[in-house]
Amino acid sequence: MRFSYTTTEAKADEKSLNFLLEQLAITQPSAEQELKMDWPNPHHCLLNIKRDDLIHPIISGNKWRKLKYSLCHALENDCSHIVSFGGGFSNHLHALAYCCKQLNIKFTAIVRGDYRANPSPMLQDLSQWQSDIHYVDKLTYQRREKPEYLALLQKEYPDAMIIPEGGSNTLALQGVAEIVNELSGHYDYIVAPVASGATLAGLIHATHQTSCKILGIGVLKGEGYLEELVQQLLPQSYGHWSINHEYHCGGYAKSNIELRDFCRDFYQQTQVDIEPVYSGKLFFALRHLIQQAYFPVNSRILALHTGGLQGAR
Ligand SMILES: *Cc1c(COP(=O)(O)O)cnc(C)c1O
Repeated sequence: MRFSYTTTEAKADEKSLNFLLEQLAITQPSAEQELKMDWPNPHHCLLNIKRDDLIHPIISGNKWRKLKYSLCHALENDCSHIVSFGGGFSNHLHALAYCCKQLNIKFTAIVRGDYRANPSPMLQDLSQWQSDIHYVDKLTYQRREKPEYLALLQKEYPDAMIIPEGGSNTLALQGVAEIVNELSGHYDYIVAPVASGATLAGLIHATHQTSCKILGIGVLKGEGYLEELVQQLLPQSYGHWSINHEYHCGGYAKSNIELRDFCRDFYQQTQVDIEPVYSGKLFFALRHLIQQAYFPVNSRILALHTGGLQGAR
C-alpha cells in the first residue's frame, strides 16, 4: 500500500516555503520511532510514534502543520498583519504569535474572556512578542465565524489575513497531510488527540485511498460535537475514522492523579515527554486499548505526538 497525498490546493512556491522553514528553524520531516512499552499487549501490536513534538521547541507540532500553508500564503502575498482567535490558554495563538514575531508580521489575537488581571503564561509570551491582544466577551467570541463579524473585522484591519480559531482552514488539511506523506511505511491505525478536529480531518483526508484507519481520542467532553467539527472540515464523507470519547478525564485540560502519574511513568520508560492535556490522554488511551485487545492481532499503530509541551506550564 502507498499513502496517497491528495493535493486540493494550489502549490506553495518553493522560495517562500524555504524562507519560512529557515526563518522559523523548523525540523521537518519529524522523527518516527518505535515505542517499546511494558504494557500488556495480548494482540502483539507494534506501536510507533511520530515525533511532531520535536518539530520546534516553541511552535507546537500540530499547530505548525496546520499553519504552514497559511503562513506561506501570507508571505507570498506580502501580508503584513495576521488576525486570529483563541482561548486564554491557546497553543494555536501561542504558536502563531511566535511565527509572526519571527516573520516580522504584525499579529492581533482575539481572546475569549478578559485575562488582563491574570494573564496565562501563553498570553504573557504574546505580550512579550509584541502581539496586539484584544479581549472579547463570550458573545462576541461566538460570532468569530459569522460573515458579518468577519467583514467588520476586515474593515477594521484592511491589510490583515484572518485565520480561523485553531488554524482550521483548508490549508490546514494540506499541512497535516504531510505527516502521512513522511511515513516510512504502512500503518493499520493512526491515532491522534482531537480538540478542534482539524488535525484529525487532515489525517482522514490524506489516508482516504489507503487501508489505514484513523482513530481520534477526544480530549474534551464532545461526543457528537467533535465528529461534527471533523466532518465540517472534510470535503466529503469518509468511512475509515472514528473518535473515542472515554479518555477526556472530565473535560478539556481536566486531569486526575492517575493521568499525571501515567505521564511521569511514561517519560521514565521512554524519555518521551508528554503532558496531561493532549498527548497524555492519547497514550493513556492507547495503553488501555492495546491492553483490552481493541486493535486486531499484529496491528501496526502510529501514535501522533502533537507537541504542546510549552502548554504544560
Ligand atoms: C491544539 C492541539 C491539539 C488538538 O488538535 P486539533 O487539530 O485542534 O484537534 C492536539 N495536541 C496539541 C499539542 C495541541 O496543541
